[in-house]
Amino acid sequence: MAKRVFNFNPGPSALPLEVLRQIQEEFLDYKGTGMSILEMSHRSKEFEEVNNRAMALVREIAGLGNNYKVIFVGGGASMQFSMVPMNFLAAGKTACYADTGEWAHKAAKEAKRVGNVNVLYSSETAKYDHVPTPAQLKVPGDAAYLHVTSNNTIYGTEYDSFPDTGSVPLVCDMSSDMFGRTRDFSKFSLIYAGAQKNLGPAGVTMVIVRDDLLAKCPDNIPTMLNYKTHAEKDSLYNTPPAFGIYVVKLVLEWIQAQGGLKKIEEVNRTKKDIIYGMMDNNPGYYKGTVQKPSRSWMNLTLRMPSEDLEAKFISEAKKAGFVGLKGHRSTGGVRVSLYNAVSLEATQKLAEFMTSFMKANPK
Ligand SMILES: *Cc1c(COP(=O)(O)O)cnc(C)c1O
Repeated sequence: MAKRVFNFNPGPSALPLEVLRQIQEEFLDYKGTGMSILEMSHRSKEFEEVNNRAMALVREIAGLGNNYKVIFVGGGASMQFSMVPMNFLAAGKTACYADTGEWAHKAAKEAKRVGNVNVLYSSETAKYDHVPTPAQLKVPGDAAYLHVTSNNTIYGTEYDSFPDTGSVPLVCDMSSDMFGRTRDFSKFSLIYAGAQKNLGPAGVTMVIVRDDLLAKCPDNIPTMLNYKTHAEKDSLYNTPPAFGIYVVKLVLEWIQAQGGLKKIEEVNRTKKDIIYGMMDNNPGYYKGTVQKPSRSWMNLTLRMPSEDLEAKFISEAKKAGFVGLKGHRSTGGVRVSLYNAVSLEATQKLAEFMTSFMKANPK
């Protein structure tokens, strides 16, 4: 049996062990074809089944109907920063953005290359320690869309709820909390998520887009950057990131096998409560960096009494089998990423480690 660590990486990140095992099992001979899924045509019946099942599972888990198209594309979530405005920010219109972290900031920056942008709200001067309340995001009725970032991976904040934007499309980057908790997904006209945080491997990005928004895609942009191209062909206009889609399908099946999104949410709630509990009970030692109503369930950020202690904590944790706890290079500190594949057991073990570290290293 391979030696596995407790993996708290922020992305790419842990995948469920059951999924890795299934990949391994099917790797050399996919369902009696005598070849790996890596080696077969994306137009084969076997891959078509994988692709169709993945799209259906996304709709099933999200509770969405056939008026939403699911597509899988390359280019990472970062390419969506450009595709969204290229498709939906028409000349003379203004797109609204909430600037709640590095990724949200980059999304707005790319939109500015395309057209008019109104940054409705920014928490930048507060070092991105919170996200706005729905009431703080008042969207003008003639806006092209409102873009929000549901979970700010680097700063450790997450929206609890989203504004009602009426007829203005709500667009969301859910890269780091997609299917980490229940949401009313039907509020959104477009959702995108790079798979490598909570859904699968790097190299594939999931996009869910509603028909009425899709109808607005212009014809004068590059074919590959047009959502319609991919939606009309079920992501098979060209060769899609086939292996990535296959792994995403397995992860979605794993979510269903756990009892679905409700059950995933329940476990994730317990996990984040354990680590936030550690911060709340020891605020002089493990000090949370964000405002409580904005706390992320997926990326929990904290500071310790000194940078030396933080470095010691990260290195001793690693020796004890807990990896990926170093804060982002732009923020420092410690970041505990509790994506779906991080088990309750791993979270409890980390909390025990934090307790014993604190006792052994008084400030
Ligand atoms: C990681 C991340 C991105 C960037 O994803 P890439 O696939 O590397 O382009 C964008 N948004 C959020 C919220 C992220 O966490």
